[in-house]
Formats: sequence, C-alpha cells, structure tokens
Amino acid sequence: MSHPIDAAPAAPGQMRISDEVAIEISGMNKWYGQFHVLRDIDLTVYRGERIVICGPSGSGKSTLIRCINALEEHQAGSISVDGTLLSSDLKNIDKIRSEVGMCFQHFNLFPHLTILENCTLAPIWVRKIPKREAEATAMHFLEKVKIPDQANKYPGQLSGGQQQRVAIARSLCMKPKIMLFDEPTSALDPEMIKEVLDTMIELAEDGMTMLCVTHEMGFARQVANRVIFMDAGQIVEQNEPEPFFNNPKSERTKLFLSQIL
Ligand code: ADP
Ligand code: MG
Repeated sequence: MSHPIDAAPAAPGQMRISDEVAIEISGMNKWYGQFHVLRDIDLTVYRGERIVICGPSGSGKSTLIRCINALEEHQAGSISVDGTLLSSDLKNIDKIRSEVGMCFQHFNLFPHLTILENCTLAPIWVRKIPKREAEATAMHFLEKVKIPDQANKYPGQLSGGQQQRVAIARSLCMKPKIMLFDEPTSALDPEMIKEVLDTMIELAEDGMTMLCVTHEMGFARQVANRVIFMDAGQIVEQNEPEPFFNNPKSERTKLFLSQIL
C-alpha cells in the first residue's frame, strides 16, 4: 500500500481532497465534571484535507483534538476515524491510534534515548517491526524533516525546532493516515517556527490529512483548505481561508481575528 508521504508531491493549490471521509464527528459533547467543554460538535474531514483550527485560549481546541484519538473521552455523540467508531472497545481505540499521529506543543521526546531510538521505539515494540527495517524507515523520515545528521544525538543536544521536527518524524514512522497537530510551534523561538512550518507544508503537499490547531495564520492561508473558528466549546464558523480571513461572518470571529492579525 502506498503511503501518502511517499506519493508524488502535488503543486500547492492542486492538493487533492478525496470524497472519502477520514474523520466523522457527529453531535459530540464532552464534559469535564460539571463543565461542558465541547458542545454539539459536527465535523466531517475528508481524506487529504488540511484543516486549521483556531480560537481563544480555553475554547476547547486541544480537547477536541485529544478526543479524536481517545486521549480524552467524549460523553455524547460519535467520532469515527477511517470508518472505525471510537467506542470504549479497546480494539477500536488501538486501531484508531495506530492510524492517527499526533504532535504537541511540547515535543515529549524521551531524553535518555537517541533521536534514532526515539523514532524506532514504537515501530519496534508496538508494530513489531524488525529493528533494521525500523531504523531504515526512521532515517527516511529524518531525511524528510532534514535532520538525518542528528540521528545519534540526544534530544537535549538539539534546538527546539529540531526537536519538534524529530517529533513529527517519529509520528510519521508509525505511517499514520491522519496527523493531528496541537500548537506545534507555540513553544518555539521565532527563528525556529519557520523550519517546523516548512516541514508541515511539505507534509500537506504530500497529501497527508491534517488537523492543525495553530495561530500561524500565514500557514493557514497557504496550506489550509478550511479554517475552523472555535469559541466556548463550539464550532462558531468555518470557511475556506480567503473568505474566512477577508469576510468573517460572526462577531466573535471578527473580534478574535482583530486581536491576532
Ligand atoms: P484550548 O486548547 O482551546 O486552549 P482546552 O481544550 O485546553 O482549550 O480547554 C478547554 C477548557 O477545558 C478550558 O476551560 C480548560 O481549563 C478546561 N480543561 C482542559 N482540560 C481539563 C481537564 N483535564 N479537567 C478539567 N478542565 C479542563
Ligand atoms: Mg490548547
């Protein structure tokens, strides 16, 4: 089976979106105790889509992303990923997690393992892939994120931008069909943001289905086919980048954009 990132890159603007559904969220609600954090979320993501999610701090963006691979439980409605319903059945959760890669603000690399070992750990122990094969795959993706020369170093010896690119490569080693990003550049120094965004842009051009929580609006304009604005646990507005930024409809979206642009 060919992997999206191995496919021939499409020219920007010609990135293909299929009519196959990658993620279907319907009537989803979540509470933290009494606190109703996500309200009536309906969202269909098609294969090959690049969706940027933005919104004020505390609006539920991270919670939404975390619900998609069952890092958080939802209490009402449904989420299905690649046709598998996310239920309390652990088999389904394992299947979904094996198809969904995730990249957080803090890279969560294992400090006592080398870059190469960080990238091969899950493929060897979870996927049971032979070590040599896992190492070859890891080197392929470390080349892809342009740091093959760092393979034998430890995370602490790398810059923040390099560590985040390792985190992306590590996710890709599990051959995910979908990548979720939760503010991957917000802990980085400004000069390192671009190198991580460039990696994400390449991933998008290779056809990866991506959901990115980010306030990098340049990235959203360049890469997203759809921008979603969340506030107070709801999807308030969504549109293609051009109308989203130039002609936002809701007052809440206008206010948010006026504060960040
Ligand atoms: P965002 O990513 O948009 O900043 P989050 O999804 O992190 O928002 O949080 C949404 C709301 O839920 C916030 O009010 C936050 O304080 C609350 N929250 C997040 N995680 C928890 C948790 N584990 N327990 C209780 N409340 C939480
Ligand atoms: Mg968050």
